Amino acid sequence: MLTSYQLSSPHLSWGDDGAPHSDQFSDVYFDQESGLEESRHVFIKNNQLVERWARCQQSAFVIAETGFGTGLNFLCTWHAFLEHAPCDKQLHFISVEKFPLTKEMLSDALKMWPSLSAFSAELIDAYPDVCHGFHRVELEQGRVQLTLWFGDAEDGFAALNADIDAWFLDGFAPSKNPEMWTDTLFQHIHRLSHQGTTFSTFTAAGIVRRGLKSVGFDVRKVKGFGQKREMTVGELNKTCKPLTERMAQGQAWFNVCHDTPSNNTPVRVLVVGSGLAGANTAYALAKQGVKVQVWEQGNIIAGEASGNPQGMLYPKLTAQDTRLNRFYLSAYLHAARFFNTLSSALDHKRPFWDQCGLIQIPKNAKEAERFQKLLSQQLYPDSVLHASTQKPDSIFLPLSGWVAPQVLCEHLLSHPNIEVRLNTPLKTLNLASTSSFSGSDNLGSESRVSVWQAKSDAQITEFSHVVLCTANATNQLQLTPHLPTSAIRGQVSQMKQDDAVRACLDSGIDPDVIQIDSVLCEFGYFSPPINGELHFGSTYDLKDNDKTVREEGHQRNLNILEGLLGLKNSPFKTEDCEGRVSFRCAVADYTPIVGPVQSEAAYQQAFSTLSKNAKWKTDQVAEPCQTLYVNIGHGSRGLVSTPLSGEYLASLITQTPSPLEQDIGHLLHPSRFLIRDLKRKQ
Ligand code: SAM
Repeated sequence: MLTSYQLSSPHLSWGDDGAPHSDQFSDVYFDQESGLEESRHVFIKNNQLVERWARCQQSAFVIAETGFGTGLNFLCTWHAFLEHAPCDKQLHFISVEKFPLTKEMLSDALKMWPSLSAFSAELIDAYPDVCHGFHRVELEQGRVQLTLWFGDAEDGFAALNADIDAWFLDGFAPSKNPEMWTDTLFQHIHRLSHQGTTFSTFTAAGIVRRGLKSVGFDVRKVKGFGQKREMTVGELNKTCKPLTERMAQGQAWFNVCHDTPSNNTPVRVLVVGSGLAGANTAYALAKQGVKVQVWEQGNIIAGEASGNPQGMLYPKLTAQDTRLNRFYLSAYLHAARFFNTLSSALDHKRPFWDQCGLIQIPKNAKEAERFQKLLSQQLYPDSVLHASTQKPDSIFLPLSGWVAPQVLCEHLLSHPNIEVRLNTPLKTLNLASTSSFSGSDNLGSESRVSVWQAKSDAQITEFSHVVLCTANATNQLQLTPHLPTSAIRGQVSQMKQDDAVRACLDSGIDPDVIQIDSVLCEFGYFSPPINGELHFGSTYDLKDNDKTVREEGHQRNLNILEGLLGLKNSPFKTEDCEGRVSFRCAVADYTPIVGPVQSEAAYQQAFSTLSKNAKWKTDQVAEPCQTLYVNIGHGSRGLVSTPLSGEYLASLITQTPSPLEQDIGHLLHPSRFLIRDLKRKQ
């Protein structure tokens, strides 16, 4: 368990030419004279990247690096990739960094390379907040995907789920930084590599050569760059275990991989449901060039729980480093960056996002104490969470804000690779065996063994993969083992800003009280206005399936509002309120359900040993990974969790590196309930 998500910045001194030097490690980030040329020689040339990109069969080429530092290697690779790789290929670059440079340091360090200035500017702009964990950074309009792990290298590679084509080993010199050249790290490098994976490194130290040889690489010393005598290269020339086994790490029941790589097989995916989960999943796939159909049973996009006019980006961060907290933290950072990127490209006549920050006010003395603990422990960087300067005992989340979820879903679903079909309920879905994929448009001639035949009315359409984003309706479809979700009623209220001002004046209350700059949260929320309307709520009604808007619901929401504004006598009336009712999809363990659906019978058979020994481990999967997925159970936190969940599902379907820690993938896995039941039988 971590005691802090904060990371130390590196201690740098700067040469006369502007090159950074690490005082901690007494070493240079790159060669002062010719860093750029050295990076190209050691890593690009000696992994034969240009030749390999030209003959690459997969849709994405995957590189992993030890030590992101200033990002120079990354920028050189990005540059070379644009120059040499076929335009339909994507670059995934994964790097780890325990002492991340701040944005300012990065900007200073990269000034040395004017020929890369356009790339540096884009990187600096998109560089994530320095906080422990994985951060997915999209560059070059998605063609270049950078996955940064901020934290220790060993932890990052242990948490990684990816199949690496080439390694750049660039920790400081082994004599100065042995932590970057350990046997455990070499074992992870092996786990994440396949036959044909290469590595290169500037060092020719014996410990590195022996370490990589011991895990199975063929290792060679070759001429180093410039005056340097030697460096090391290598290749994995042996048959490796299947991907599913390499990724299992003893818990094969949480398999998300396929052993027959889809390579660049054009897939066509059916996403069922057009709410936040469906729209984000469809968009993440569409960005990868996948053709997606979205079937929505209603007559508008996001007409159910994602249809509220305004929602809050509200992560509920805790004082403990649990897997769930890590998921919400990384999902939150991802969502905030994603909304910023989207909104800068969007038509502002229909605003969907305002990063106005969020003040979380304690509900009671116990919560105030918890907030104090949260602040004093300094678990989070200030850029993520700090004490509110406006409200006593409260915390402030500067990256938060409000979202108009329906506008967001409509925008996501307007991607040219997505076709939305409204009034199209999924009636039946069958997995049919067929020797060739018989769907129409753009599917190429790839032969496949099975397809999903989906039926709405008369017509049957074939898809390679299906994702159910059907919230509370998922169990009704009877396509998955029973998933423990429940519907929780929520009524939201809204009032015209003018009416609220008038009500305040009539009651002798200063109307400035409703002029807030940031979202306020306590028992519920109150947000800065959107389109002249004030939004607040929400009720949380268990075992209540009433779809009608109720006056008593407005009254409860007004009570929430008055509490948030600190008003003793209410100026507002339920008659001035309008509202909307929808049903959250909540899960018994408060964790979304995201991932492939596996067969219950196959699990009972393959993993029955768990009912005798709950600690049993195996790398043998029950069955090949299914091509049916779910993405549901986001409760009240869908704005936080669905962008990253969508990205995660897209990575599983396209078999590209996962943006999530493996442990977090296990936490979200739909089979967790089957496994818990098996273990409980013990
Ligand atoms: N590739 C970088 C570039 O292009 O600028 C240079 C990398 S520099 C030689 C080595 C990097 O490894 C430093 O940024 C250092 O902070 C990082 N590092 C050192 N020990 C580490 C560890 N245990 N885990 C992760 N990163 C580490």
